[in-house]
Amino acid sequence: MPFPTTCPTCGREVPVEFADSAIHEVTCPQCGARYVVYVRKHKFEVLFDLGTRALMDGYAREAVASFAAALERFFEFYVRSFALERAAGMDGDFGGALAALEGTWRHVASQSERQVGMFALAYLLREGREPEFLTAKALGTDFRNRVIHRGYLPRREEVDAYAARVFALIDRLLGELGPGAAHAELAQEQAFAAHLATLPEGVTAVFEEHPGMFRARRFGTMPPQKSAVQVNPTPPLNDAQAFAQALAERGPGLDVFKRR
Ligand SMILES: [Zn+2]
Repeated sequence: MPFPTTCPTCGREVPVEFADSAIHEVTCPQCGARYVVYVRKHKFEVLFDLGTRALMDGYAREAVASFAAALERFFEFYVRSFALERAAGMDGDFGGALAALEGTWRHVASQSERQVGMFALAYLLREGREPEFLTAKALGTDFRNRVIHRGYLPRREEVDAYAARVFALIDRLLGELGPGAAHAELAQEQAFAAHLATLPEGVTAVFEEHPGMFRARRFGTMPPQKSAVQVNPTPPLNDAQAFAQALAERGPGLDVFKRR
C-alpha cells in the first residue's frame, strides 16, 4: 500500500510503498534527488490502519487479515515495551537490553503461539493479574481462522464486530501501558538514528508522523483518567461504539492511504 511523500528538492509528490522497516529510500523521478523518509509508526498501527482503510473501501474480507496481524504485532509491541521499561527501571543499558530482547524474540518469532505465551507472562508481571481477554472467544480466533485459513466469506457486520473487538483490546492495553509505550518508541528512534548515521552526503532525511486510529494513545500522552468524583458519569462505550467513534474522528485522516 503506497503513501504519498513530497520530494524535498522539487516538491513533487512521490508515492512510496510502505516498508517493513518504516525506512523508505526514495529517488525523485522528476529531479533525481535522493531522500529517506522515516515514518514514526509501529507495525501494529500500520496494519490496523491498512485494515481500516480496506474496510472503508469495501474490502471487508481483506481487512480481517490486517486486523489479525495488527493484534499479533501489538502483542509483540507490548512485550518490547515491558522488557525495555523494566530494563530502564533497573538502570540497565538500553542498547544491551534491546540486544537481549531481539535475541530472545528470535526464539519465538516464527510461532505466534509462543509469542502469545510471552505476552501472557509480560502482562502478568506488569499488571499483576491474569490476561483474562486471552481466550479464543474474546480474541475472535475462530472467526479469524475461518476467514484466513478456510476461505470463509464474512458478512460486513461480522468484520465490523471483529475490528471493533481488536480495536478495543489494543486501545485498552495501550491505555494500561501508558508511558511504558515510550520505551518501544525509543527503540524505533534508535533504529532511525543508526540508519541516519550511514546516509551519504546529499541525501535528505525526512521524518514523518502519519494519522492513525491509535494516534491519541501514542507516547502515553493520554493515560486512562483516574479522576475522583464524576457527576452523571457517561456510560462507557461498548466495543462497537468505541470503534465507530474512532472511525468517524480519525478515519478521514487515513485517506492518505487511498488506493490510487
Ligand atoms: Zn524532486
